[in-house]
Amino acid sequence: MERKQKTDRSRPEIQYNTIKVPLYPTPEQEALFQKTFGCCRYIWNRMLSDHERFYSETGAHFIPTPAKYKKEAPFLKEVDNQALIQEHNKLSQAFRNFFRSPAAFGYPRFKRKKTDRDRFTACNHVMGESATIYITKNAVRMTKAGLVKAKFPRRPRSGWRLTRITVERTKTGRYYGCLLYACPVRRPEPVTPTEETTIGLKYSLAHFYVADGGTAANPPRWLKQSQEKLVKVQQKLSRLQPGSRNYQEQVQTYRQLHERIANQRRDFLHKESRRIANAWDAVCIRGDSLRAISGALGGSDVLNSGFGMFRELLRYKLERQGKQLLEVDRFTPTTKVCSACGAVTESIPPKARRWVCPVCGAEHRRGVNAAVNIKTKGLARYQAGQVQEAVS
Ligand SMILES: [Zn+2]
Repeated sequence: MERKQKTDRSRPEIQYNTIKVPLYPTPEQEALFQKTFGCCRYIWNRMLSDHERFYSETGAHFIPTPAKYKKEAPFLKEVDNQALIQEHNKLSQAFRNFFRSPAAFGYPRFKRKKTDRDRFTACNHVMGESATIYITKNAVRMTKAGLVKAKFPRRPRSGWRLTRITVERTKTGRYYGCLLYACPVRRPEPVTPTEETTIGLKYSLAHFYVADGGTAANPPRWLKQSQEKLVKVQQKLSRLQPGSRNYQEQVQTYRQLHERIANQRRDFLHKESRRIANAWDAVCIRGDSLRAISGALGGSDVLNSGFGMFRELLRYKLERQGKQLLEVDRFTPTTKVCSACGAVTESIPPKARRWVCPVCGAEHRRGVNAAVNIKTKGLARYQAGQVQEAVS
């Protein structure tokens, strides 16, 4: 695959930003949204089964367009046609992904109301001065639904173009709109990292991460408290009779708590990654497979803690400033290597927090030593030019 040249810095490029807004639909609008979710599932499943039949009969791949179904299913005409077209695009993409890499993506599946998320996407069409989707001071205007009341945590900057909206209903019944904007930006000058302006981070179960300088992030205490509450609700739930009224109430409590924790965590990850991306010129990190760590630790909450998301947030927040996330191969030994002399010690007890290098006598704190090694390796790779090659 040919990659874009990154040398032309004078030409603005397009970045995408999302603004997520809570929506407050009227009962009529809510009914329309519900109908749209249902129609999207319906059309997805119809297209998927027709694709299968067509393939078994002819050996060729073909997905009929939504228009084909409107005659036999006139209720499809009641919802935004754009949402149906998006389902067609998504299914086509799902098949393209599957054919390119079947192991990673899997064959597209039928959607069931019980397990599928309630969401639909519609693209904005601009013709001269008018657009199908736009925002006002306190609402989002959509096709069919009209003006839907919304609360904006922030506003788009001038020059941003609204390209599409995804409407979703959470398990607790709240509505959100994700507005996707195309934003022209000038490519930043690349920043050259030095040892002083680079930080190495090691994932830590207890502290979220430990840095090579000895500092650690401590996820806010309330996150832990909410998680403990969640466990309690879970335990209570297991003692109740499924289907009973108490049970239903506890399920609702659980969902609300779960949503709140997800929001708190996202907030923490955004702030922490912003702080680091602004303070440092490069961040070295190990490309750990968090699934593997979680498995090794008996399925603890590594995935839960959001370190993978943290890494992706860091990556794009750095890139937007011309900085780099320097990833070290996940099989690179970092814990057993002495950061002072480079000697490998196999006999460090897995739970030891401190250890002394038998070769040079240096005293190490486990996490900090690993973070120093990650930083050294990351910078070495950068200087060898491998990293630059990999990203350009
Ligand atoms: Zn040593």
